[in-house]
Amino acid sequence: MSPVERLRANCDLPDEELRNLLETDLFDEELYKAADEVRRCVYGKDVYLRGLIEFTNYCKNDCLYCGIRRSNKAERYRLTKEQILDCCAQGYALGYRTFVLQGGEDPFYTDDLLCDIISSIRSLYSDCAITLSIGEKSEESYRRFFECGANRFLLRHETADESHYSRLHPGEMSLANRKQCLFTLKKIGYQVGTGFMVGSPYQTTQNIISDLRFMQELSPDMIGIGSFIPASGTPFESFEHGSVLLTLRLISVMRLMFPHALIPSTTALGTLHPQGRELGLKAGANVVMPNLSPVEYRGKYAIYDNKICTGEESAQCKDCLQRRIESAGYEISGSVGNVKRNN
Ligand code: SAH
Repeated sequence: MSPVERLRANCDLPDEELRNLLETDLFDEELYKAADEVRRCVYGKDVYLRGLIEFTNYCKNDCLYCGIRRSNKAERYRLTKEQILDCCAQGYALGYRTFVLQGGEDPFYTDDLLCDIISSIRSLYSDCAITLSIGEKSEESYRRFFECGANRFLLRHETADESHYSRLHPGEMSLANRKQCLFTLKKIGYQVGTGFMVGSPYQTTQNIISDLRFMQELSPDMIGIGSFIPASGTPFESFEHGSVLLTLRLISVMRLMFPHALIPSTTALGTLHPQGRELGLKAGANVVMPNLSPVEYRGKYAIYDNKICTGEESAQCKDCLQRRIESAGYEISGSVGNVKRNN
């Protein structure tokens, strides 16, 4: 059997063989094909849309790669509860059944304020999923948000290797805490997503293998990876962006290792390649996260340079994505798009 066939059959390979698979393009076509077969087996042609609301670009953290890190010069904004609810109303009318609230770690949004926002969305849209992507909080805060109606949480671990983590983050942040947050979120009952950047500065193949091993330990419901893209004004502004091919290869590897995972074809892929998101879907991804933020703020959530879809109204965005998804051979699903668990 080829390594791809064995990866598919066992959802696993020894480190050495994973390394070989990741470091060559020889198996790419076979990988995409196997990953697409597995995704069709579990999720059919369905692609789930998640309406992304980037509600604040203030951040108390100083991650070296991120364009909205606290020490970067950036024009800052915050959305009011009313603005957030407006985004949800527009999204609901367009057919979105998941709202993702993403932002920097912004203490302006106290737990009480977040609970108020989450409860309001929950009472207006009982048939929708509410996903949070707001960074590291205490177990108590995570519990309160869950009780108010949030049911999914995205928190990329960024890299599972201690020394790599410390080269990407300031000393006050810790990988141990980030991992602990992920296990806590799972324990509370959230559908949990994690992931990492492909081609972040100093990343090695061994780091990526550690990422895959950590995800086997966590068993996430969602896995988001995107190529690293340099952001002006950050310490990494002159670094190379991550490879699109390696990102696609990894999407396929993850589909074979985690057949039931919800895997987005990310905006970062679309930023680096005109058909990046279509290629991501063909490599095994089954989620797309169009932007629902008000157009006047979109350009300001500049976690990296040249981010796409910052000038379009939400409705235009949806039409464009629908064409792209159908051209790749898939269909938008109108369902809430929960994970199909493997047990
Ligand atoms: N504050 C939240 C949301 C972060 S933004 C949190 O801590 O989870 C979402 C993701 O964007 C991050 O997890 C990171 O993986 C990614 N990101 C940040 N800067 C990036 C860059 N320069 N290139 C590509 N992806 C980046």
